[in-house]
Amino acid sequence: MFTLDNAKAWMQEYSRIVGENKEYLTELDSPIGDADHGTNMARGMAAAVEPEALDQPDLGALFKKVGMTLVSKVGGTSGPLYGTFFMRAGKEAGASTEIEDAAFGAVLRAGLQGVIERGKAELEDKTMVDALTPALDAFDAAVGGGLAGAAAAAAEAAEKGADATVDMLAKKGRASYLGERSIGHRDPGATSSQYLLQALAAVIK
Ligand code: ADP
Ligand code: MG
Repeated sequence: MFTLDNAKAWMQEYSRIVGENKEYLTELDSPIGDADHGTNMARGMAAAVEPEALDQPDLGALFKKVGMTLVSKVGGTSGPLYGTFFMRAGKEAGASTEIEDAAFGAVLRAGLQGVIERGKAELEDKTMVDALTPALDAFDAAVGGGLAGAAAAAAEAAEKGADATVDMLAKKGRASYLGERSIGHRDPGATSSQYLLQALAAVIK
């Protein structure tokens, strides 16, 4: 079961990891972007885990609140995309305080689907989709063995996916303006998405 308490702990851990890696994310966003991804995400997640924001009655309300907070506080391209991820996840989760493991996989998948619909990125466009897609595939493949194993598998796949963005040519967002010169740099958004799954694995043991 994935519970409301799990979700709150997940968001707090994600905020902690993003805060801890704020400079690194911004450093990644320097050669292929405008050097704001770390500060944007840290600001957004800090607001999302304010006690009054976290104080929600069910999973749907919590994820929708996180999504709306990210839209209003993160800005840039990634704010609306992460915002969409959580708002769609919230819609899928509905007014429940706990859901079955596989159903939580569907909640994550609904979030990713929202990112794809909104951002129109395909695999290997060098975006957050390149970390999220293999992560959720790994989650679904492992979820029969329980939530902890699925979260660990997702975190591992997300890291590999983010690593793989180094060699990709960016086709979406600011990095795409660089064309061939985007190759050789790790995508900041794929890296913050890797952290999202790492945070999940850290709180689901
Ligand atoms: P901005 O580029 O507006 O400064 P950020 O720096 O916060 O926004 O985020 C950049 C990240 O957003 C990129 O590293 C990439 O992963 C992600 N991104 C950009 N465009 C898209 C898109 N169309 N679909 C999915 N992700 C995208
Ligand atoms: Mg940027």
